[in-house]
Amino acid sequence: MNANLYALFASRFPDDRSACCIETSAGTLYSWDDIERASGRIANLLCSLQLPPAARIAVQVEKSPEALILYLATIRAGYVYLPLNSAYRAAEIDYFIGNAEPAVMVCSPENFGWTSQLAFQRRTDHVFTLGDDRTGSLLARAATQPDHFETVQSAPGDLAAILYTSGTTGRSKGAMLSHANLSSNANTLQRAWHWQPGDVLLHALPLFHVHGLFVASHAALLNGSKMIFMNRFDAHEVLRLLPRATVFMGVPTFYVRLLAEASFDAAACRAVRLFVSGSAPLLRDTFDSFHERTGHVILERYGMSETTMLTSNPYTGERRGGTVGLPLPEVQVRVVGEKERRCAAGEIGAIEVRGPNVFQGYWQMPEKTAEEFTDDGFFRTGDVGRFDADGYLSIVGRSKDLIITGGYNVYPKEIETVLDEMDGVLESAVIGVPHADFGEAVTGVIVCKAGATLSETAIITQLKACVANFKVPKRIYFVDDLPRNTMGKVQKNLLREQFKNA
Ligand code: AMP
Repeated sequence: MNANLYALFASRFPDDRSACCIETSAGTLYSWDDIERASGRIANLLCSLQLPPAARIAVQVEKSPEALILYLATIRAGYVYLPLNSAYRAAEIDYFIGNAEPAVMVCSPENFGWTSQLAFQRRTDHVFTLGDDRTGSLLARAATQPDHFETVQSAPGDLAAILYTSGTTGRSKGAMLSHANLSSNANTLQRAWHWQPGDVLLHALPLFHVHGLFVASHAALLNGSKMIFMNRFDAHEVLRLLPRATVFMGVPTFYVRLLAEASFDAAACRAVRLFVSGSAPLLRDTFDSFHERTGHVILERYGMSETTMLTSNPYTGERRGGTVGLPLPEVQVRVVGEKERRCAAGEIGAIEVRGPNVFQGYWQMPEKTAEEFTDDGFFRTGDVGRFDADGYLSIVGRSKDLIITGGYNVYPKEIETVLDEMDGVLESAVIGVPHADFGEAVTGVIVCKAGATLSETAIITQLKACVANFKVPKRIYFVDDLPRNTMGKVQKNLLREQFKNA
């Protein structure tokens, strides 16, 4: 049997290939037939370049249906898709090209000058452009190719994609994902979230990340469901398009921004059956406000580039706020303390996972890969968490964010949760900064609610009443916004830098 992920999608395309697969927010329609033929043309173009087996196709473009078609063409032709965040600048792209040695680079027309210069210096021979308005040399060259393409035969372990980790701590590493990794997770999510005939996905996430590229697109493709494509998130556009969608997926920031719209209410969500959140922690306050305002309980799930999705709150059954739910079928998740000792319910430890979704290792980093796997094949996620008595997992933070002050461990999430519940606090981040006596000093950074004025001493006094003294921040700083990357993750490395000498 062909393990090629595209072959799996194609086997589930609807019988009526003239039905709509993608509709853009401007109203352009792409049928399933269009997707098949356009990806066939690009796959033929890639094959005509006589690339080596498993060649990497690096892509840094704005979101568009053609960007998704390019992804499908790449895996169809048996090459390895390497998406890059469209915000990356020259120095970052130079690192990725140097590290991944792609055979082909596809960039936005406006970036062709500097991208091609970097690519040619690094011996990437083919550079194409692709705009978000169907412009660029990729489509021009593909237009003369036949649109029939026999999807190549792939073995389950063949690579389909390399996703560079977002690198909020340290240098980005390339997570190698196989056809079997991606197929297993796509099948699991389609079943777990009860994808059904007639579903329509409002797709507002970027295509360079696991969330938008895999979690959102894969389930819709597997289900033969239409996607309404927004090139970027915009709360007003979501309000306009939501009445035509049944499924919406977002990072927590999307939900915060939707709630900031006075007209966002139950009526605006009347057609939707499922809201999914992930990529960063969903605040309890957002979860509760969303429920109050719309009647919908957001389903929070947890995963990462290296593993795709690991846990999810149940579709039927209780969706528990502040938790990322239960391990998905076929995925083993354990929380361990020192020397791989299994933690009891309620106890905090390192999260380790094993399953058909777990990646093949870091690109050209065999030693780093070996370090991150246990002897019995579990991947060390670098996340810290705890199971409750009913098996729901909560994420407490990244192990690298753990603060060690005077020899005591402080998990930032514990203090952030207390701070977030205080009157006038919109959100908070707790970090460790270098300290002569304690090694690290616990430091709080707070964003106040509009109109609220808070004092550092009052907050410290309140904290002292509810947590052990060593966990109480030595200093509290107030900021207008927390720095976040495009996937909504708070960039604590930037905060640590900003407040290290404060
Ligand atoms: P990425 O590889 O960019 O998707 O980042 C993965 C990381 O995002 C995970 O290791 C977690 O630290 C974090 N993450 C993903 N989903 C959640 C969630 N629902 N709650 C808290 N953290 C999350």
